[in-house]
Amino acid sequence: MIAPESLPRVLHGATGRPLTLAQHEEAFGPMPTATPSLDLLESSGLTGRGGAAFPTARKARLIGEQRGHNKFVVVNAMEGEPAAHKDRTLISANPHLVLDGAQYLARVVGARHVAVCVSRDDPIMVNHLQRAVHERDRHATRAVSFELHTPPWRYVAGEESALVHWLDDNESLPQYRPRRPHVLRIGHAPVLVDNAETCAHVGLIARYGADWFRRLGTPTSPGSTLVSVSGAVARPTVLEVPLGVPVRAILERAGADPDPQALLMGGYGGAWLDARHLDVAYANDALAPLGSSVGAGIIIVLPRSGCGLIETQRIARWMANESARQCGPCAFGLPAIADDLARLTVDTPGAGAAYDRLVDRCGAIEGRGACRHPDGVVRLVRSALQVFSAHVEDHVRGRACAASRSNHHYSAVPTLEREEELVWE
Ligand code: SF4
Repeated sequence: MIAPESLPRVLHGATGRPLTLAQHEEAFGPMPTATPSLDLLESSGLTGRGGAAFPTARKARLIGEQRGHNKFVVVNAMEGEPAAHKDRTLISANPHLVLDGAQYLARVVGARHVAVCVSRDDPIMVNHLQRAVHERDRHATRAVSFELHTPPWRYVAGEESALVHWLDDNESLPQYRPRRPHVLRIGHAPVLVDNAETCAHVGLIARYGADWFRRLGTPTSPGSTLVSVSGAVARPTVLEVPLGVPVRAILERAGADPDPQALLMGGYGGAWLDARHLDVAYANDALAPLGSSVGAGIIIVLPRSGCGLIETQRIARWMANESARQCGPCAFGLPAIADDLARLTVDTPGAGAAYDRLVDRCGAIEGRGACRHPDGVVRLVRSALQVFSAHVEDHVRGRACAASRSNHHYSAVPTLEREEELVWE
């Protein structure tokens, strides 16, 4: 078995078309038949690549400790972030690597079923995964069965409790979780949910070991990760990079504007990073003191000609529309935040009062939702008010920038839909 010695790892062997099972085994070698090991995952230090960066072994251990044989592993390939393309890129190259990892995790926790979840609104991904699952079925030992599920695409539909809710009850709504980690269930069956990229790394660790995995990255953030780079770049792209590499190096590889104003890191529930910090390491422990994180592996590059407040306002409006409106902070708080951001950016006479209300609303909303959707918006808005503080000052004094009147934007926001068009089942 020949392990890739450098990058790419999870994108190794990519040909532009998804590898068949035979091509996949030729590229990576067969999965080992030895008893799967939680200790192996633990010593690899792998953390979830979906956004929360929770240690993969700890999550698996919790489900492994639950009683019963009817457990599930859920592969989350929903990719709800509009600026994310990493799961799509991975599954368009190595769908079987994702399934290998899911199968390994199922054996680790004692699950017999793997539910692979992909949005029904992405027919190409559905097709790739359908083929891979069928191919597996033909060669399966039947110890672990695979099933494809296609929930509707919504931002919160990919939240793990919403995904399990949909599998259990056909509704893509997040569930209230009093404490984390919390055991999610389909009926009475405990469920382990892992992101597609996380599963692909598990497929590699199972083959090549924890030491191999740790040859890239840092001691606290080992391995490689996929990152979707968009905004002021020649072309939106997905790169596989070692964790801990300087952010500037990622931008150079992506062909991004070399002198940007700021970066939106982590996704739409992430935070703005001032461009003074381009040499920071791309790893959560280095980014945290700057209020930022790797999150869902997204970097949006804002050029000096852009308006970070307008970008934030567009995203906040979209996030308000995407909430499930089950809780007060989402139903009332997020639209009010989006309205105040709009007043701050275009309604100059009321900009000062709008700024004061924004600060108050962020404090009132934080930590009050059943899921973390509103907290993500609060994080984004607070970071915008801080990173673009000079710009806020200009707006408050009635000197709105030219960029705020432009129709050219750098964050991809799907067309807003009317509330009655939202689909949850
Ligand atoms: S906080 Fe918002 S998105 Fe989360 S469950 Fe409540 S209404 Fe839904």
